[in-house]
Amino acid sequence: MTVKQTSRLSKAVESIQPSGIRRFFDMASTMDDVVSLGVGEPDFSTPWNVCEASIASLERGHTSYTANAGLPELRREIANYMDDRFNAPYDSETEVLVTVGASEALDAATRAIVDPGDEVIIVEPTFVSYAPVVTLAGGVPVPLAVQKEDEFKLTPEALEAAITTRTKAVMICFPNNPTGAVMTESELQKIASVIERHDLLVLSDEIYAELTYDGEHTAFSNLSKMRERTVIISGFSKAFAMTGWRLGFVCGPEDIVGAMLKIHQYAMMCAPTPAQHGALEALRNGRETLERMIESYQQRRNFIVQSFRELGLDCHQPGGAFYAFPNVASSGLNGEAFAEKLLLEEQVAVVPGNVFGGGGEAHVRCSYATSLESIKVAIDRMDRLMQKI
Ligand code: PMP
Repeated sequence: MTVKQTSRLSKAVESIQPSGIRRFFDMASTMDDVVSLGVGEPDFSTPWNVCEASIASLERGHTSYTANAGLPELRREIANYMDDRFNAPYDSETEVLVTVGASEALDAATRAIVDPGDEVIIVEPTFVSYAPVVTLAGGVPVPLAVQKEDEFKLTPEALEAAITTRTKAVMICFPNNPTGAVMTESELQKIASVIERHDLLVLSDEIYAELTYDGEHTAFSNLSKMRERTVIISGFSKAFAMTGWRLGFVCGPEDIVGAMLKIHQYAMMCAPTPAQHGALEALRNGRETLERMIESYQQRRNFIVQSFRELGLDCHQPGGAFYAFPNVASSGLNGEAFAEKLLLEEQVAVVPGNVFGGGGEAHVRCSYATSLESIKVAIDRMDRLMQKI
């Protein structure tokens, strides 16, 4: 019996594409001497005290599952952290869930709130997983492109215009990947008023909250009337240099976090136990190392943005995360053609802005979570390419 290939796979999974970032990494992996500003992860190793705490937990025999929601002491530490750091108190027993990275949190949060046909507004350019997780949950992703003229911030007018009677939620990410955009409390409050008026939910990806260089990060749930409407998604990957540990968390209203726990317990059982012990140490004793990493990112940000401007590339100052998002229109190329030429002719890997959705086609994403020396080499090579063009 022959089985038709297409009948084996769900329509939802067939409708999503592999991430556009991969094509560039595949190309780069076949080349020598590539300087990469491509990857979205810290160049720092996980602080050693965190590794040691995890090793010690294994030595003590903590190799079993934890509670589905995560170690109670880790959830308490997360609740303390959110309160101390962002003035956002949560009940550690009912409003905090430890997940397998922010990635799982995004997926579970979406599945917990979306019914087939519900629209979810996705503020773009943004992290590549949002639209696929909405599609896989049976929802309809509605892209909303923010503009360079608005420093890649969301405006209440643009949000208002994207809302329909089917809109269930909005997914936002500030500080943003890939633009580095940060929104102030008063700017966010205007967005919150629109959310309130239309009775929507917010999935707020705040994984870069610690990496805010100018001013203070505002937790979306802290805005007026937003606590009951907001799921904060965060994790240890970026701020604590723990990408491979696969540990994230969510804080949100009890009903949504409870629904996510149901999904999580069947899909994951629990987050990795050794990683949870490491994360406890990161929250208890990680502040000093974190501050040093933030200072280093900030220096590199200042250097890379200044260098792009000297090359004649229009680059806004990113207020957070570890990405610069220069506009490469002055080269006569769009972001994709520029990234391809830069890789093939000068062996520098960056990511074209269009892979992050609308609004970023003329841009490339350059991660500055790499050594200053590598950034300098990349800038010299870019300079050479610009001269040639
Ligand atoms: N959200 C954003 C905005 C990200 O940039 C990333 C990682 N690139 C993630 C979520 C996923 O993080 P994690 O490693 O915690 O799954």
